[in-house]
Amino acid sequence: MSRAISDAQTGETLPGILVRSEGEPETGDASVTEAYDGLGYTFALFWEVFERDSIDDRSSPLEATVHFGSLYDNAFWDGSRMVFGDGDGEIFTGFTRSLSVIGHELAHGVTEFTAGLVYRGQSGALNEHVSDVFGALVEQHAWRQTAAEASWLVGEGIFTDEVEGNALRSLKAPGTAYDDDVLGKDPQPAHWDDFIVTRDDNGGVHLNSGIPNRAFWSIADTLGGFAWERAGQIWYDTLTNGSLTPRSEFSEFAAATIAAAVARFGDGSDEQRAVEAGWALVGVVPAEA
Ligand SMILES: [Zn+2]
Repeated sequence: MSRAISDAQTGETLPGILVRSEGEPETGDASVTEAYDGLGYTFALFWEVFERDSIDDRSSPLEATVHFGSLYDNAFWDGSRMVFGDGDGEIFTGFTRSLSVIGHELAHGVTEFTAGLVYRGQSGALNEHVSDVFGALVEQHAWRQTAAEASWLVGEGIFTDEVEGNALRSLKAPGTAYDDDVLGKDPQPAHWDDFIVTRDDNGGVHLNSGIPNRAFWSIADTLGGFAWERAGQIWYDTLTNGSLTPRSEFSEFAAATIAAAVARFGDGSDEQRAVEAGWALVGVVPAEA
């Protein structure tokens, strides 16, 4: 593992100044420490559980920039590095504070190197969904939480105390992560019947991801234990086994996860039944092979 954290010093030039490389001690800057540790925990999930060696499975360095922009309210994957804003201090605190957000951004890199889900419409919502799944799993793996113990929240701790909300999103209960005067209510649907058709947000990629998110939570909940061991393994297999296309839709993704469950755990296995039940819960009918 090779990590490198840079500091944009509230500018918007990337990568910024290199402030901590692999093996170097803490700098005293909490954002740098959080990013460095978060990259380590993300690497650990992919390596220890799935034997994936970094984002590209070819030992690529893990790079991040902190203190991007002035009061910048976001974090993103720019195609080669993770970039974190400090937040405006009124709604958002710093984006490195949440391990699930760090895992989410890095998982975008993994998706880019594997299934390549196009970031628009249903395939874009699946891209977001995959990042939420692995973001949650990075946190659960780091903290050794079972499916029953986990919060299933993405972005816990990045809102200020002023905000009425727990996190950005909830995989367990999409649409309930926040309900605030300024931010409004978490708009995520949790069922196919409530799929949102919109031109905003690349066709609702951060909205409709709630539907597969709830399916995944349900599968992990049914199987119990550590979610990365079975549900997470099935999702990782689906992402990497070549069964998806860049434009896969929900029904195709569902069918691919069922096939992956059968391939790894057997026809008629508890895992297969759990995956089928998870998709049925959210109203997604798997595509015919
Ligand atoms: Zn994302």
